Amino acid sequence: MSKDRLAQALERWEAVIGLEIHTELTSLNTKMFCGCPVAFGAEPNTRVCPVCLGMPGSLPVPNEKAIESTVLAGLATNCDIEPWSQFHRKNYFYPDMPKDYQISQYDLPFCKEGWVEVELAGDAAKQRADRAGLAAGAATDDAYTTRIGITRIHLEEDTGKMIHVGGSEGRIAGATHSLVDFNRAGTGLMELVSEPDIRTPEEARRFAQKLRLIFLTLGVSDCNMEEGSMRVDANVSIRKRTTPESEFGVKSEVKNMNSFKALHDALAHETIRQADLIESGGAVEQETRHWDAGAKRTSSLRSKEYAHDYRYFAEPDMVPFSFEPAWIEGLRATLPELPDARKRRFQASYGLPSHDATVLTEDLALAAFYEAVVAVAGVARAKAVSNLVLGEVSAFLNAGGISIDETCIEPGLLAGLVAIVEDGTISNSQAKKVFADMTVSGESAAAVVERLGMKQVSDTGAIEQVVDRVLAANPAQVEQYRGGKTGLVGYFVGQVMREMKGQANPAVVNEVLGRKLEG
Ligand SMILES: [Zn+2]
Repeated sequence: MSKDRLAQALERWEAVIGLEIHTELTSLNTKMFCGCPVAFGAEPNTRVCPVCLGMPGSLPVPNEKAIESTVLAGLATNCDIEPWSQFHRKNYFYPDMPKDYQISQYDLPFCKEGWVEVELAGDAAKQRADRAGLAAGAATDDAYTTRIGITRIHLEEDTGKMIHVGGSEGRIAGATHSLVDFNRAGTGLMELVSEPDIRTPEEARRFAQKLRLIFLTLGVSDCNMEEGSMRVDANVSIRKRTTPESEFGVKSEVKNMNSFKALHDALAHETIRQADLIESGGAVEQETRHWDAGAKRTSSLRSKEYAHDYRYFAEPDMVPFSFEPAWIEGLRATLPELPDARKRRFQASYGLPSHDATVLTEDLALAAFYEAVVAVAGVARAKAVSNLVLGEVSAFLNAGGISIDETCIEPGLLAGLVAIVEDGTISNSQAKKVFADMTVSGESAAAVVERLGMKQVSDTGAIEQVVDRVLAANPAQVEQYRGGKTGLVGYFVGQVMREMKGQANPAVVNEVLGRKLEG
């Protein structure tokens, strides 16, 4: 996907994007309306019972923990929790739902009218030209914060899984037959619908990532997009930059985005496709389009259904819900520290810049690890710890595709490494070697330094001796340096470091060299 083409399209057109995010409540032990276990990857059709198979006469019993999880999600995203709500039947005929209807919510969802904030910085921030709607003080030239509205969060049951055999890429087109696995049918599924407040593909990605982080923090789902426990669909339309705000274009719905990158790329593609279409005299049709990550394009799947096609009616097997304010406030009191608050605390308590606080708190395990290291190393070293965690530690984790929990690096070990860098025992470049050794040996930094004989030499007398030898052995370069070619200082530093096997304190080497060369 050409970034330039998106930037060009966004100069003439404004994208108007809303997301629908389905999140499976994977932390629950049982399904939404029956006692079947929730288990990903089990043998097909082994986690089923008369209720989730829709057998006549079976009755649903709502899962209290699922309702609590949904209300918590609403409280964490600034939603109003409705005092009166109920389940409805959404009727449709498709083999993935044996009852021929899905129990969902219609006009009385549990949560309404919330919002979350997303921050954009750098090139991504330049794609939003119109910043009139942003809160005062929320935007600079290369960064802004915007609030994305949440229309509703409701609870429903997931469908079964269809497996189409014989066609290409598992799609129904060209398949010879289809199989259905009902293990997933009836799993609690939270659906969040956003307002059409999103203006660029990057805002959409940030919004989805923020929600994932909130749901992970609440512990309601593992939010795995590749395995489908978090599924994001998008509604996209474009309007001329000169058109008054109220007039929306015709929207298409984009599906099948299995990663945050796919979400961004599909929305960028769809924005460009609609701009090209309208500019060449065509018109956008209301339809559902399928994102093909391999071909990097969307293709038409079907013309869009309207809500009335589903013939919603109130679920007659369950009474409506009336939530007591005290029950809601009791749940609110159990909310953990949420991502925005944690980021602000990292900035305030540890004196970290916004960037450090953002990156650290975007990974729950890394944030916990960081705090554990600082608890040992001391708050005075909080920034030094952040540098090491976001530098060496993150590079190591990314290279291995692992989480900090999967390593042998204990917080105390890393605090020990920070301490010997800070007191000058080893240099920053030596710290890289020591850390690499620690990830394999699991030994303390001091023990690794001892074993490898790596202590940094800061003794000025010892360094002066080596500097004298290097200058005596390179008279021509010394003359060139004194003749104005001062860039040669790097050459001398290199020679001294080589003689001292990289263990000289670079600051002392520079100081001594400067003094001797000027003399
Ligand atoms: Zn069941």
